[in-house]
Amino acid sequence: MFDKILIANRGEIALRVIRAAREMGIASVAVHSTADSDAMHVRMADESVCIGPPPSPQSYLSIPAIIAACEITGAQAIHPGYGFLSENAGFVQVVEDHGLTFIGPTAEHIRIMGDKITAKDTMKKLGVPCVPGSDGGVPDLAAAKKVGAEIGYPVIIKATAGGGGKGMKVARNDAEMERAFQTARSEAKANFGNDEVYIEKYLTTPRHIEIQVFGDGKGNAVHLGERDCSLQRRHQKVFEEAPGPVITPEERARIGKTCAEAVARINYIGAGTIEFLYENGEFYFIEMNTRLQVEHPVTEGIFGVDLVREQIRVASGLPMSFSQDDLKINGHAIEVRINAEKLPNFAPCPGKITQYHAPGGLGVRMDSALYDGYRIPPYYDSLIGKLIVHGRDRPEALARLSRALGELIVDGVDTTVPLFHALLAEPAIVNGDYNIHWLEHWLETHLGGA
Ligand code: ADP
Repeated sequence: MFDKILIANRGEIALRVIRAAREMGIASVAVHSTADSDAMHVRMADESVCIGPPPSPQSYLSIPAIIAACEITGAQAIHPGYGFLSENAGFVQVVEDHGLTFIGPTAEHIRIMGDKITAKDTMKKLGVPCVPGSDGGVPDLAAAKKVGAEIGYPVIIKATAGGGGKGMKVARNDAEMERAFQTARSEAKANFGNDEVYIEKYLTTPRHIEIQVFGDGKGNAVHLGERDCSLQRRHQKVFEEAPGPVITPEERARIGKTCAEAVARINYIGAGTIEFLYENGEFYFIEMNTRLQVEHPVTEGIFGVDLVREQIRVASGLPMSFSQDDLKINGHAIEVRINAEKLPNFAPCPGKITQYHAPGGLGVRMDSALYDGYRIPPYYDSLIGKLIVHGRDRPEALARLSRALGELIVDGVDTTVPLFHALLAEPAIVNGDYNIHWLEHWLETHLGGA
């Protein structure tokens, strides 16, 4: 087992990893930009290294600075958190070339899943159900129209190098395809430096259901059920729950087994998430994330396992601490993402926290790097906390969420907390009756902007 690990991230996820390391008796090294000298992850880690100025490309994304921080402190492994360098295959290569361990999957798996056409092709071969669509990349408009005719409109044009919900375009007929195809290509080029696009059937009212998988890198893998992350704004998740309100035990067992077997066959190591759209009882693969997800705590809530601890274990060569038979669902968990943003337009709202009080009590977990007097810097994303609740069933979890939101105090900046108070009063949320478009529609009618 490692003596010391470095966390190449900031904010709540850096704290999350430091906490797991401490429980395992492993020393932690925080890295930070000059804007984060007073950040909680720096205070909580055993050691810290300043790696550069505020803009991420010069600090949290600076591979030489992070490797140097490892060498200075003697850290043996790097946990990337999510975002930043977590899905950068080149980084993994450099880490390994320096004799260090990357706490995550191999560079090859990151590369395969980072290219969406290759990912889909790989999953299809592994027996995972995919959205009907083009056979790989679509070179020109004529080929795009041919795909439209074959699979039937509406279709969605997506960038193979895509991410973050960018560059996707829907076309409802040949005329719309003419414009959408060119726009999708030029946006893909501008955003990702790669204009290759592919086409999928556009599902009109799906839910976003993702399966948590975990592998030991030696051909063993398990699944930890699903999370329903259908409540999204601009393809960004805002509210996640596990288990999914509409997924039956039989469906879970079937898709879970398919996913676990798929990652076992490629000797996948560590945590991964296989994302699906779910409509009329069918699952359709859209992408795989080769990292820990923001919303992993809801899975931890219902299974009672520590996924970060497990990541560190398998990275050090130890076996997983649980088998599929050990994993039994207990109750229901919900996470809400608390962002420093001003409603109704969700404008980022950095600034000084004049008062912070975290909710507590049975079944309440607050993952946040806030403290009284902390100044949220304007350079990074606006997630300032995740409130996760666990109850014996969904109604209990919802009641607990409402109670915990009422206890939370974040003064000094605007947050998305009022949105969650309002959502909890909606019958669709209470009944779990929503799909990936529900929140955008609700925001348009209730806040006059989406
Ligand atoms: P990204 O990596 O950019 O997040 P994804 O492939 O994960 O892209 O898709 C993001 C979101 O876009 C999905 O959660 C869903 O809301 C929507 N989407 C993607 N593919 C389809 C599709 N075939 N039909 C309908 N919506 C889709």
